Amino acid sequence: MTINNEKFIEERWFKKQGDEWSLMATRCIDCNKVFFPPKTVCPRCFDGKLEEVPLSKKGILYTYALSVMGPTDLTKPFIMGFIDLPEQIKLYTLITGCQYEDLKVDMPMEMVIEEIKKDSDGNSIAGYKFRPVKKEGEQS
Ligand SMILES: [Zn+2]
Repeated sequence: MTINNEKFIEERWFKKQGDEWSLMATRCIDCNKVFFPPKTVCPRCFDGKLEEVPLSKKGILYTYALSVMGPTDLTKPFIMGFIDLPEQIKLYTLITGCQYEDLKVDMPMEMVIEEIKKDSDGNSIAGYKFRPVKKEGEQS
């Protein structure tokens, strides 16, 4: 999917790698721990030796909830969840591309870049969301 004006909820979290956008984290060179949102100092080592690394685009659904309340600029109801990423990160995210009833704890999920909301001028603001990984042969 293409985002035309490529405006993000948080510009520094996103980096284009080839044709695809990646969500960027930082990894501590000393203790190897990965942090998202990116940090400037490792909260475990109190050291600044961090490198920027792209987060995995696939993870496992840890938990989720249907929200009928929330920020005024989001369309309600919306589904929020936590995704367990291979980097030992539980990523809080909007969930898209499915109905609430389709979701199951431990199901494989993948990241997509989609519009989150519009700014006051009506421009699209994109961010990351996760959706269930389509099974072989399943219609999208
Ligand atoms: Zn560290």
